[in-house]
Amino acid sequence: MPRPRALQTLSHAFSWTPLGKPQQTLASEVSLSGIGLHSGVPVTARLFPAMAGEGRYFVVSEGNGNGRRRVPATIDHAVGSALCTTLVMKEGKRVRTVEHLLSALEGLGVDNCGIEIEGGDEVPLLDGSAKGWVEAVEQVGVCVAKDSNGSHKEKMAPFLHKPKFVCRKDSFLMAFPSSKSQITYGINFPQAPAIGCQWYSCFMDDAIYSKEIAPSRTFCIYEEVEMMRKAGLIQGGSLENAMVCSATTSWLNPPLHFDDEPCRHKLLDLVGDFSLFAQNGNQGLPLAHIIAYKVSIFRHHAMFLSLTMIYDGLHIQSFHGFTTRICFILSFHQYFLSHSTTNLIVLINNLNNSNLYNGKSKTGKAHFTVSFPPFIFWNLPQNK
Ligand SMILES: [Zn+2]
Repeated sequence: MPRPRALQTLSHAFSWTPLGKPQQTLASEVSLSGIGLHSGVPVTARLFPAMAGEGRYFVVSEGNGNGRRRVPATIDHAVGSALCTTLVMKEGKRVRTVEHLLSALEGLGVDNCGIEIEGGDEVPLLDGSAKGWVEAVEQVGVCVAKDSNGSHKEKMAPFLHKPKFVCRKDSFLMAFPSSKSQITYGINFPQAPAIGCQWYSCFMDDAIYSKEIAPSRTFCIYEEVEMMRKAGLIQGGSLENAMVCSATTSWLNPPLHFDDEPCRHKLLDLVGDFSLFAQNGNQGLPLAHIIAYKVSIFRHHAMFLSLTMIYDGLHIQSFHGFTTRICFILSFHQYFLSHSTTNLIVLINNLNNSNLYNGKSKTGKAHFTVSFPPFIFWNLPQNK
């Protein structure tokens, strides 16, 4: 077993906090087969128990009988690729479309797990959701992971101390301090009215993840599919493993599992992305309230960069910096312009006057006032 690296120090905005429970792994191994989204070939993923501190990793064949090699499921091995998350080694070995499987493992607290792919370099897409992975994990169960000395390790999570955010055009990703992990996600597809604007918010625990998030399938716009197919992508895509929505009519393969299934699926993907920040079998998802709006449009290069910024505080100005403050205002301004406010109540917290921001017109007259952090409540399904 490779020696676990020391936990990397996060920025001063984060600290590692014990969750009061041990790291877990699978109770025994389990396999699932299906088609790879991009290659279109049948592949099998075998999930097997790993030791405490090992984290999650893929095992790929070196070829020519030269044995096998580990590809850790961590952010430093993730690269941007069209429409999926890919993990690569320096030698060029890669594993594609890892996000739904990793999302399920992070969502269910399978902190340490080995994954071997047979038949190709891609994780099977299954029905386009994480439901199959959740069922596979539930079939074998999870247990406390032991290290090579037979001891368990306490699970840690990155605890956020102060608000952080990044934005790009009208997309933004924000994180607010919270004692629990919570994600609020928004999407907007004006080109496909059947999808339109959706918001979903939930706390993250394994029960909520398996019931409310995991069954949400990936989706695409019918009119954009042919372009992707001609570009050699999504060869394995079909009406069986993705919801397809026409820009001019509606869903081609109803019924949906949830009215807001597309939004929930984006949240599922985001959990998969956050899983890549896990270190040594600890939690990747921070103890924070993450609010994301249209962030998938800047997947993956900028998405990973943004997530890294959220974690590291690198190249990001503080909330008290003028520029970021303006960006923040603009994001919300655009939000109001592009959304119906009928299902949205924004309560501005103006308790902290030191954070009060007065927007002034050229005449010097204040035309808006907002303070940080704003508390946002969407009148949408919350946790059951
Ligand atoms: Zn997805």
